[in-house]
Amino acid sequence: MTTPGHDVWLRVKERLRVELGHDIYSSWFGRMECDGVEPDTVKLSVPTRFLRSWIQSHYTEKLLGCWQAELPTVSRIEVTMRSAVIRTTTSPKRAEASVPTRELRDGKHNGDLRSPLGPISAVHDALGGSPLDPRLTFESFVVGRSNTLAHAAAKQVAQASRADPVMFNPLYIHSGVGLGKTHLLQSIAWAGNAAAERKVLYLTAERFMYGFVAALRAQNALAFKEALRAIDVLVIDDLQFLQGKGTQVEFCHTLNALIDAGRQVVVAADRPPSDLETLDERVRSRLAGGLVVEIGPLGEDLRLEILKARVVTARHLYPGFEVPAPVLLFIAKTVTHNGRDLEGALNRLLAHSKLSGHPITLEMAEREVRDLIRPQEPRRVKIEEIQRVVARQYNVSRADLLSSRRTANVVRPRQVAMYLAKTLTLRSLPEIGRRFGGRDHTTVLHAVRKIENLVGNDTALAEEIEALKRQLQE
Ligand code: ADP
Ligand code: MG
Repeated sequence: MTTPGHDVWLRVKERLRVELGHDIYSSWFGRMECDGVEPDTVKLSVPTRFLRSWIQSHYTEKLLGCWQAELPTVSRIEVTMRSAVIRTTTSPKRAEASVPTRELRDGKHNGDLRSPLGPISAVHDALGGSPLDPRLTFESFVVGRSNTLAHAAAKQVAQASRADPVMFNPLYIHSGVGLGKTHLLQSIAWAGNAAAERKVLYLTAERFMYGFVAALRAQNALAFKEALRAIDVLVIDDLQFLQGKGTQVEFCHTLNALIDAGRQVVVAADRPPSDLETLDERVRSRLAGGLVVEIGPLGEDLRLEILKARVVTARHLYPGFEVPAPVLLFIAKTVTHNGRDLEGALNRLLAHSKLSGHPITLEMAEREVRDLIRPQEPRRVKIEEIQRVVARQYNVSRADLLSSRRTANVVRPRQVAMYLAKTLTLRSLPEIGRRFGGRDHTTVLHAVRKIENLVGNDTALAEEIEALKRQLQE
């Protein structure tokens, strides 16, 4: 292996910088080093696994082009991850600071830490409403594919005026933990109480039970019930925790009284009404009789948007808090479980950078959030498995996917499978090509691009692909 002329590498970097723009260049290539050039292969290295896989899947072609412009013999780019040992010996002048991207500074979600309304309404307090978190408002809620319907319904409920007929009653929102139920419910409470004429009461199921017990002990259950019935919107969170025969009976009465009086009831739980085993059949069917909406898992785009919104919010408290775009992307890609873990990940970066005084880097992020990834790291997906699942989904055989047949009914599934192989595994484009009947890496790249483009416009396909991903990762 010969060492490349240092100036060739400098020129290649300059080309990249010109073609990609300074922000993108320094975010992704700032710490790339050239370890050598064989006649046809360029060996490059970056400090983290994530950078490597991102560059491989998004910039292989671009890199190759820039190299070929300088050295026409180059036909292959190899990107490796530098070990920590090598990294400590690199000369300091190679480390180019990564520059925060404009995207972040212009973050469009303007989550605001200040309370949107000042004191919570007197009714809410008087009835012993559960505490409301000032950060959980519609303004800071990011809407994406998985929560569009729940958000629209919540918004509708929040905006309805007293004169409007109630559209769906109760509104029942369910999902796994950390996907935004409480956020939506509290948003309704904030928005409702901001419009002074409406009385919105937000209660956790526990608070509901505690309220009744306390009211019964104080012998003024009637007064409590009267007060409860005076409200316009009753919001009950975490209904799965509602327990006890007496509480249930009271809950059932309250629900019926409110609904029959044309008042809005909103409920959230971690499962659909039919699965609330501890509630009796009549309550369940009453709950199921309105609009039941599920919030699905947060997609990667949504996770990224939530993170961006969070950074903007955090900046109210910590001016100058900057998280480079690649770090946000890394977290969005790897911390997949729920909104709470996203918040946890960001809090750690914040704490770390505040305590150590160091800017946030990818290496630091990979270290800090490791344990948030490990417990629920998506299962390692094998390319064979992708081929099998995709083949089944589209009713073709796995052999068809690997074959050279080019009929439409095989081409699309093959592209989908290649796209999934690229997004769900860390395999390189050439490797994927080999596993799909010995195809060239440019064919794979073409397929990946093709599907990426289609997904942007074709919701049916996007959903199909999300479903396939879930199936493969479970
Ligand atoms: P749940 O009640 O469903 O368990 P939460 O509403 O408590 O979930 O959400 C967990 C965390 O994730 C909260 O900090 C919340 O603000 C955040 N989160 C979830 N979904 C969204 C979203 N769509 N936009 C902004 N933040 C979200
Ligand atoms: Mg909740």
